Formats: sequence, structure tokens, C-alpha cells
Amino acid sequence: MMSLRSRLTWSYIFFAIICVALISILANITLERQFRRYVVANLEKMNRQLITRTSGQYHPGTGWDRNAIEDIGIQGLEQGLIITVRDTQGQILWDAMTHNNRLCQQMIAHMSKNMTSRYPGWRGGYMENRFNLTKNFKTIGTMTIGYYGPFFLTDTDLSFINTLNHILLGVTLFALLFSLMLGTITAKWLSAPITEAITAAEAIAEGNYRSKFKASSHVRELQRLRATMERLASVLQHQETLRKRLTADVAHELRTPIATLQSHLEAMIDGIWEMDKKRLEVCHGEILRIQRIVQDLSRLAKYETEPLQYSRFDMTQLFQGILASLEPEAIKKNISLALEASHPMDIEGDRDRLSQVAINLLTNGLKYTASGGQVLVALNDSDTSIEVRIEDNGPGINAEDLPYIFERFYRADKSRTRSTGGSGIGLTISKAIVDAHGGTISVHSAPGKGTRFTVRLPKKQPKSDI
Ligand code: ADP
Repeated sequence: MMSLRSRLTWSYIFFAIICVALISILANITLERQFRRYVVANLEKMNRQLITRTSGQYHPGTGWDRNAIEDIGIQGLEQGLIITVRDTQGQILWDAMTHNNRLCQQMIAHMSKNMTSRYPGWRGGYMENRFNLTKNFKTIGTMTIGYYGPFFLTDTDLSFINTLNHILLGVTLFALLFSLMLGTITAKWLSAPITEAITAAEAIAEGNYRSKFKASSHVRELQRLRATMERLASVLQHQETLRKRLTADVAHELRTPIATLQSHLEAMIDGIWEMDKKRLEVCHGEILRIQRIVQDLSRLAKYETEPLQYSRFDMTQLFQGILASLEPEAIKKNISLALEASHPMDIEGDRDRLSQVAINLLTNGLKYTASGGQVLVALNDSDTSIEVRIEDNGPGINAEDLPYIFERFYRADKSRTRSTGGSGIGLTISKAIVDAHGGTISVHSAPGKGTRFTVRLPKKQPKSDI
């Protein structure tokens, strides 16, 4: 696997090479075309000049000025052209090959070398063009111009092309070096926060949630990664605390009834106490208590983990049924139980679980309110939500206990609730269910006056498939 640094560096290098190669190829192709055109045009121009100048050396009275023709011929040689001038009878007036054969051969060989050095596999050779020399529309002779064809590059032309290619090579080297540097810097800049996130994730995996990020980044994704890691750490830490506390709480809750059972049973086994009905009843009571705690806990676990079973039903009807089933208990305790609901209110939700919430809140009201008191349920709805108020005029809850009553095993008045047999899980379950429905549960209470629980539930679930 490749590191971020090598991956970035390689992609920059690749990009640089492609760019420089493209520029080089394009530059060479364009240059080549222009050069060919220029060289060919230049050759034609030189030919024309030579013809005009040579024709000028014929004087009707005296004939050809051989010296002047020689000058022209030598100048032609300097420009890479091998000239032969003949009169109308075909007599040679001046011939470059005769003048200096070795120079001519050398010249052709040099051109050929130039061309093959630039274009390996170039096929060219000596070529000749013959032109008529005229004066006053009369032919006065012929001129043959030989050259290395189809065209040739002089030393100056070649060195120009080579310089350009050297510059391009320099640019390539610079681009490669620059890519390497840029790759290293960018990778370092990108990988520092990522490496830190990896270290933080490793620390979290080992149970160390406090590792803090130091490297800052201006890249939005990296900032998000960092924020997510921090949130992940705090959520995990919270979960871990809850898990530890749950274990401690369960142990704490079970310790008292088990200790009572143990001491009673041991005393009876050792014969210190007689095994009478009253003592056995105490033991039985403690076992029932343990059973209730275990039942509540497994119900809580179920509500916290299992998905909701959605259906559409009428809340008013649901409460009418629950109140009817609690009626005997209310009558027994001499508490008036009433429902205020003017019309049917449809809701999407898990019927069993919402019944559980209603039962928990109502039984709490009946449990904690003294004889002669009252428990009232009021249902109201808007377009989108239903509000359930469950009010009693019982003992109320102290302000310092209020923030905690939705927590597991929390009991506001230990001595009182112990006698009523509460396990302190009912409200935790209720809150878990309401939360799962996307609703809210809140409590208002005035000690000595009463307690009011308010549950607000959305009528429609965002992702239900009803
Ligand atoms: P429990 O099983 O003990 O009733 P809950 O979670 O239902 O557990 O309630 C937590 C605590 O909140 C109770 O122990 C009690 O002290 C307090 N509480 C709940 N409802 C009421 C109420 N209607 N009136 C007074 N106190 C209440």
C-alpha cells in the first residue's frame, strides 16, 4: 500500500510529465512546420536572387563577365548551393565542383549529418534544379543549382532548435523537483491531522477518551473528521460511564434484599430464630423485590434495544382502556381518577410501549398520592403533536431530586419508596420509549402540592412505513 505522501508526489510528477511532454511535442511540431516553410521559401528566394544576379553579368557587346560569375558562385557555395553556369551552347562558364570539389562534397556530407542528427532515419540527398538565364526575353544560358534536398537545416537553425529543447528539458527537471517538494509538503499538511485522528482512534480503542487534538487544519473535511472523533470519544465515554454505573447500581440494588434474605435464613438454619410464617413472609417479600428489579431491568433492556412496532391508533381510546383497568385500584385507595379528552386523537407509534408509559405514570400517581387525593389525565392535540398531562395532588418531588428522577434506580424518598416497592426504573423506561418516538417528557412538581408529568408526542413518525 502507498503512503499519502508517495501517492500525492507521484500524481504531481505524473501531471508535470504529461504537461511538459505535451508542451514539448506541440512546440516541436509547430516549430518544425514553420522551419520547413521558412527554409523552403528561403531556398527559393536565394535561387531567384542568384538567377537575376547572374543574368546581369551578360553584356551584349562583351559577353559574359566570368569573374563576376565566379564571385556569385562562391557566394552561393557559402550559402550551401552548388552552382553551374552554362552559355547557350552548353559550354561551362563556371562550375562549383570544378572550382572546389572537396568543399562541395564536404558541404553535402555536413548537411546530411545535420539532418540525420535532427531526424534519425532522414532520407535526403543531392538534388539539382535547372533554370534558364534570360536577358530582354532572350535565353542567354542556363544555371544549375544543386543543394542538399528536399531541404536542409544550417548550423544556426539546428542550434536554435537544440537550445529550445534544452530549455524544455530544464523545465521538466524543475517541474519534477517542484512536484516532489509540493507532494511532500501537501502530504505532510494533510496527513498531520489524519495521523492525529488515527492516534486518537487508537487511544479511544484502548479506552482513553481524553486524548485531545492539537494539529489544526483549514480543510473542511479534516475539521469535520476531528470534530467527529471528539464527539465519538465523548459519546463512548458517556456510554462507558453509564455501563459502569449500571453494574454498580444493579449490585447496590440487589445487595439489600440479598443481605436480608441471607441473615434471616442463616438465623433460622442456625436455630437462633424460629422458622415462623412472619419471617418466611419477609424472605418471600425480598424475593419478590429481587424479581421485580430483574423484570424491570429486562424490560428496560428490551425497550432500549428492540425496534418500535409502529401502528396507527387513537390515544383517547388507549387512555380510556388504561383508566378503566386502573379504576379498581383507584377505588381501593379512594383516589379519584379522571380523563379529560374531547375527541379521538390518532397517532403513529408503538401501542404497547406507549401504554407502558401511560401505565407507569398513572401507577406512580396512584402509588404516591394519599387516600382522598386525585389523579387527572388531560389529552390535547395540535396538527402535528399530542400532549398528555398526568397530574396528581400527591406529595410532590423535591427540587433537588427533580433533575434525576428519570435516571435508573433513582428514588426521591428512599424510605417512602421502599415501602411502596418502587424500583426506580419506571420513569427511565418511560423516557426511553418517549425518546424513541421522537417526543419529550418533562416534570413539574411542588412539594406538598402535587406533580405534573407532560408528554409530547409527534402524530407522525418521520420514517415509519404505515
Ligand atoms: P418507582 O418504581 O420508584 O416509582 P420511577 O422511576 O417510576 O420509580 O420513579 C422515580 C422516583 O420519582 C420515585 O421513586 C418517586 O420518588 C418519584 N416519583 C415519581 N412519580 C411521582 C409522583 N407522581 N409523585 C411523587 N413522586 C414521584
